[in-house]
Amino acid sequence: MGSDCLFCRIVAGEIPATIVRETATTLAFRDIDPKAPVHVLVVPKEHYADVATLGQGDPALAGELLATAAAVAEDEGLLGDGFRLMFNTGAFGGQEVFHVHAHLLGGAPLGPMLA
Ligand code: 5GP
Repeated sequence: MGSDCLFCRIVAGEIPATIVRETATTLAFRDIDPKAPVHVLVVPKEHYADVATLGQGDPALAGELLATAAAVAEDEGLLGDGFRLMFNTGAFGGQEVFHVHAHLLGGAPLGPMLA
C-alpha cells in the first residue's frame, strides 16, 4: 500500500505517533483521539485492509497482533480490571482507516458494548 495509507505511513515513520510497543511485525501506538484513558491502536506492519483479510491471509500474523495487544494491555496495567479489544470492519462496522487495527481500550469501566 504505502503512501496512500495513513497507518503504513506511521509504520514507515513518515507521520509521528506515540509508539508504545514495536515488534518485528507489529506496531502499537496511542490513538490521536482517545475514547478511554488508555486507547492504543495495534497494527501489523504489513498492509491488510481489515481483520477479515488479515485473518484469512495470514493467521500467524493475526496471532502476533493479538500477542502485541496482550503485551500492551499488561504494560498499561489493564489485566486486572479488564479491557476491550475490537476491530471495526467495513462500512457497517464504522471502519475509517483501511489498514487493519485493533483498538485496545481500558482504564475505566466501558459499559456494555451495544448499549
Ligand atoms: P476506525 O474507525 O478506522 O476503527 O478507527 C480509526 C482510528 O484512528 C480512530 O480512533 C482515530 O482517532 C485514529 N486516528 C486517525 N488518524 C490518526 C493519526 O493520524 N494518528 C493516530 N495515532 N490515530 C489516528
